[in-house]
Amino acid sequence: MLFDNFSGKRNLFNKQNSKRAGFLTFSQLFSVYLYVIDKAILKKQFGISYLRPWQELVITRILELRDEGGKVLCILPTGSGKSLCFMYPIAVLERHSILVYPLLSLMNDQAKRLEKASIPFVLMKGGMTRDERNACFKRISEEKRIAIVTNPETLLAMEKRGELKLLSHPALLVIDEAHTAVTWGENFRPSYLELGRLVELLRADSTLAFTATADESITEGIIKHIFSGRIPYTVRDSSDRENIFYHSLKSLSKQKDIQKILAPPSSRPAVIFCRSRKETEYLAGLLNTGCYHAGLTSEERKERERWFLSSSDGVLVSTSAYGMGVDKKNIRTVIHTHLPESVPDFLQESGRGGRDGGRMDSWILWYDEECSPIKDIFTNGKCIRHSLLLHMGEENAEECLGCSACVHDGYRRAGEDEIMAWVKWHPGHTIKGAAKSITTPAFFSRWKNMKGWNGRETEMAIKTLVEEKHLHLFLSRLFCPLSSFMIESGKRSF
Ligand SMILES: [Zn+2]
Repeated sequence: MLFDNFSGKRNLFNKQNSKRAGFLTFSQLFSVYLYVIDKAILKKQFGISYLRPWQELVITRILELRDEGGKVLCILPTGSGKSLCFMYPIAVLERHSILVYPLLSLMNDQAKRLEKASIPFVLMKGGMTRDERNACFKRISEEKRIAIVTNPETLLAMEKRGELKLLSHPALLVIDEAHTAVTWGENFRPSYLELGRLVELLRADSTLAFTATADESITEGIIKHIFSGRIPYTVRDSSDRENIFYHSLKSLSKQKDIQKILAPPSSRPAVIFCRSRKETEYLAGLLNTGCYHAGLTSEERKERERWFLSSSDGVLVSTSAYGMGVDKKNIRTVIHTHLPESVPDFLQESGRGGRDGGRMDSWILWYDEECSPIKDIFTNGKCIRHSLLLHMGEENAEECLGCSACVHDGYRRAGEDEIMAWVKWHPGHTIKGAAKSITTPAFFSRWKNMKGWNGRETEMAIKTLVEEKHLHLFLSRLFCPLSSFMIESGKRSF
């Protein structure tokens, strides 16, 4: 499958960028590698018998280019096994290597992976005492090969204390989640803007930047902030994830749709992305589940991560704080309760699901009045997948079999059938009058799905159905269009 992805049909090596950014060409891709990967090490330390084609490509390029001060930028989808691309070289190269992460949780995850592969490592983070740091430096000088897992702030602090020279000339310098250098550095992680300078000071044999999603502006930002404007070899896999089905839904009631989408057990585990902390707390209360945001204490966040990681049917309501590095493979549904603001962020967030390769449903719920710079992608009725990929610079995406604009998903919006049926058999009410009748206990006892709807949200839903011309308003009175009466067995066609 992955090999097919390299067949060129998907324009993996963006032609437009290939000249400028030093993309690998096909002849390079299929050229005979100078470096031969040791299968015994793969088996013994990583427990695998073979590499995916692009893993082999990235590893061999890293090892071949290191004598020339190699610079490699890898843009590879989440869950594609990218950490092996730098773990294998660390395992075979002598001297130390430095791994830079934006978050402590990611540093801890990487430490676990290194431990599992029996690669010696030290974790260097903020707040360490002089003795603790000295113990790390001593180990670095003693070990034949060792990985230093750290973050930009710690490297900067080391530079100020004059300790950075103790880490200089590493075999590899890896910057993971490199898009954060652009998206965070320019806002609230100014230390990221110093990264390019630190990279120069450290003088690594090879500098590698990894990210899962990068459009043109992020790619340019990475080149500027990490590679100081020098063009790296760039390996890019398609941003497409074939196992994700994108549903764009103009909701009648977002809350009720969320409950309906998550009702079947097969839809879980699930993550719901909200815009604000307040919204996550409200929705988590409503769904009787956990919320996750940057306002929680680190203990609370860890405890919720642990719970969700091991849960087989949990629902986590989160801000964008949940995401990077939380390696839960079997998430079946990701819901955005709002129109996303940027394509790379949206692909990052929806890409948290289906990492086991199984079917995953990504839902984007919206109301007409919402604004977003990329609203068109989800509302203009064109293929969502193609529009997303086009935004990422991929022009020749294959036929889409997984978006609600191309394939009817059979989903009926929460409340739609019930409200339509009521108006059909009780024509001539005002919107307010209809909403009042629909939200009485007598109606709920017959239409159990409507239980919990209040007058205000029912009114809003009716107004949306009127705007969409699914219901007609004549002299402020509601009617169903004639066509709805022509359908046998009460099933409507609109
Ligand atoms: Zn489509």
